[in-house]
Amino acid sequence: MSRSIKILLLLALITMRVEGQLLEAVLDNDDAPACSRKAFLFSTNPVSGSAASANIDITYYKLDLAITVAPGYVRGRVMVTGLALADSVPQVQLDLSNAMTVDSILTGGNRLSFIHYPSTLDIELDRFHSAGEAITLEIFYRGVPISAGFGSFEFSSHAGVPWVWSLSEPYGARDWWPCKNHPLDKADSVDVWVTCDSRFKVGSNGKLLAVIDNGNGTRTHRWATRYPIASYLVSVALTDFAEFSNWFHHTPQDSMEILNYVLPEHLAQAQAELPRTVSMLDVFSRLFGLYPFISEKYGHSEFGQGGAMEHQTMTSTTNFAENTLSHELAHQWFGDLITCANWPNLWLNEGFATYSEALYLEATYGADAFRTHMESKLESALRAQGTLYVADTSTVQNLFNNNRVYSKGAAVLHMLRHILGDSVFFRSVRSYVDDPRFRFGTATTEDLQGVFESVSGMSLDYFFRQWVYGENYPQYSFSWKDEQAAGGYVTTVKIHQTTRTSNPTFFIMPIDIKLSNGDRDTTVVITPVVDGEEFLIHTSYKPGLVELDPGHWILREILIDNPALPTTYALSQNYPNPFNAGTVISFEVPRRSVGGLKVYNAIGEEMATLIEGRLEPGLHTINWDGVGTSGVHLPSGVYFYRLLAEGSSVARKMILLR
Ligand SMILES: [Zn+2]
Repeated sequence: MSRSIKILLLLALITMRVEGQLLEAVLDNDDAPACSRKAFLFSTNPVSGSAASANIDITYYKLDLAITVAPGYVRGRVMVTGLALADSVPQVQLDLSNAMTVDSILTGGNRLSFIHYPSTLDIELDRFHSAGEAITLEIFYRGVPISAGFGSFEFSSHAGVPWVWSLSEPYGARDWWPCKNHPLDKADSVDVWVTCDSRFKVGSNGKLLAVIDNGNGTRTHRWATRYPIASYLVSVALTDFAEFSNWFHHTPQDSMEILNYVLPEHLAQAQAELPRTVSMLDVFSRLFGLYPFISEKYGHSEFGQGGAMEHQTMTSTTNFAENTLSHELAHQWFGDLITCANWPNLWLNEGFATYSEALYLEATYGADAFRTHMESKLESALRAQGTLYVADTSTVQNLFNNNRVYSKGAAVLHMLRHILGDSVFFRSVRSYVDDPRFRFGTATTEDLQGVFESVSGMSLDYFFRQWVYGENYPQYSFSWKDEQAAGGYVTTVKIHQTTRTSNPTFFIMPIDIKLSNGDRDTTVVITPVVDGEEFLIHTSYKPGLVELDPGHWILREILIDNPALPTTYALSQNYPNPFNAGTVISFEVPRRSVGGLKVYNAIGEEMATLIEGRLEPGLHTINWDGVGTSGVHLPSGVYFYRLLAEGSSVARKMILLR
């Protein structure tokens, strides 16, 4: 049969099915199609990755796989159990690539007829099933999986030793086992049995219940998870892994194993880096509630895909970097415990996991580490194209866009945190994680919004509409002028906004405005609702500097449009001068730059650093008490103070009299 004829036949089959005719298995099931690499073209629902029927609710899968490596081959026997969701169910559809050959399908010992479409398996049941009735299928199949997406099933090697792994997200589970290839229908429990060469260990989900020596050079590894799991989170990884464990002591009496399977040549590095997972489990359990799969385990299996994947209870990873480990661990709550109900809502998985990288850094190293990490995520999120909700999920490149889904997803949570405040934000997150509607199930953006609204008592529709279903971000420009008024000064701040999109034309966002001069500062929160809106802010002092969103809580760009700003670096004469207890030095900075203000003695030796690092535009004043870098009061004499920035340098002389 030629390729073109086969394609025509496939088209004909699909057409006939649409017309509702019952067909016998016209395709020869033993004939692995030469055109199978094109098979995805005929998938009945390529966007969702699943054409599985909605008339069955999956309760259980048992994967019993024999995996050989020379040559690479999979022989599978998969048991699927579910409940009929309607009356008179005559057939069910599962997802399975027809690169895999199905030999037979049994129910209660009876052979069932089936048709294997390019990525769908239509199975005629032996009788009509009524709603709530159990359906049990046993599917015998074999073949060489065609790896798609990020590498759904790979035969590889390391140091000359065979190495096999899976990475099914988003659509690849059907490439190697029959299932409902969609996150919405989680099985309540899954067994994964893998028979392979006795040299190998197999990493998978849940607990390793037994390893059976078959006496023929193979062993069977029996893994089982009794927590609900989406099909894309089921995984296997096998080679001659080295193994070590760490323990998460979650109560004084109880601990959970963190089981690590790594390449023998990476064992020393893994033993140095993976134990930090313990403190990550501690941090996230405090923030999000106890690790969800506590009665089984957490762990890592090394795989060869360039990155990492949050397989439930056993992350697959290539590297052991801190941010990778915390990201994948956070997915156990956001992605695995609560899974995005469909792929356009992927940001619910990736936004939380990415933001959790920063939350771990904040809890472990403090605010500066958090801030630095978020600066890079916000920078990346500025480059996001399209809406955070990804309507076109037809390619993994479009779906798993780092700027768009990961960084902007994290930025959206970062903004919510600032709008709600830490207490309400973290209570909302906790409430979402604990919600029985979503926990061990799935959620959408609207579900998350609903929880945040009910905890905060605020309507957040505007927020989710513009940030999840809208594009781009606000580009603010502002100007300000101050005038003397009764009791001090009144500063008028005028804010313009452009969005460079019609969706939305204006972002409604609360913005922090900080007025400062020297060690005095005032922060107010304003929410512009029209372009060019003016805000009046009273202070007891003359502000030298006005900043918009100085804490960088908003995904935005800021252009300062201020005639009041200095045009050059300038340094005023200190006052008083000569001085004894202390003196005041003022200086002006025209634009954000890096520089410093230092004090030197008469022969040019550096005696004190008054400022060093980032300089904000505006007028600054500082008080100096005559104390040098060494911490001692400097003696009487002539000193010079010098402002250095962007290669420009201004200096003045002052006299200290003791
Ligand atoms: Zn992720």
